[in-house]
Parts: sequence; C-alpha cells; structure tokens
Amino acid sequence: MFMFCPKCGSKLKADALFCGECGEEIREIERTNSGEQNVKNSIEEKNKLEETNILLFKQIKDLEERIVSLECKQDKLVKIIGTIGEILGSVESSLSC
Ligand SMILES: [Zn+2]
Repeated sequence: MFMFCPKCGSKLKADALFCGECGEEIREIERTNSGEQNVKNSIEEKNKLEETNILLFKQIKDLEERIVSLECKQDKLVKIIGTIGEILGSVESSLSC
C-alpha cells in the first residue's frame, strides 16, 4: 500500500513518517483519512456494485430465457440487450457518486 506526500506528491510507503524527497513530515491524521478510510469505502462500494451486478445478471438471464422461449427475431433481441446495457450503465454511474 502506498500514499503520496501532501507537499511534493512523491510516492511513499503507507507507514512513512517523512517524505524521502522533500523531508515533509507525514502526520497520522493524513495517513488515516487518505488511506484506510478510502480503501474501506471503495471495498464497500465494490461489494455493493457486485451484489447489484449479480442481481442484474440473474434478471438478464431470466429475460434471455423468456426471449428465447418467445422465439423473438434477432433485431428485437439486440434492441432489448441494448436497453439492459443502458440500465446497467445508469446503475454504475449512480453508485460511483
Ligand atoms: Zn515530499
């Protein structure tokens, strides 16, 4: 795991006390705020996104089975898959806020 110097932006080890480039002291508060909390948040967001993806994937599979059973024409199928792609896109963007 890495962090960046708040003064010069050099890449530092997460447990660094001073910047090796400019000598800036790295405070505990900065390390905690910019490091662990961000990692925790991104993991939670990733898990949430994966859960949604699994649910959506299952729904898409159900829809595909229904489409096949209806023997729809290919252009109709392409249109429906396109709509599902748009829905997935909006879900992704709403979660990344
Ligand atoms: Zn520095």
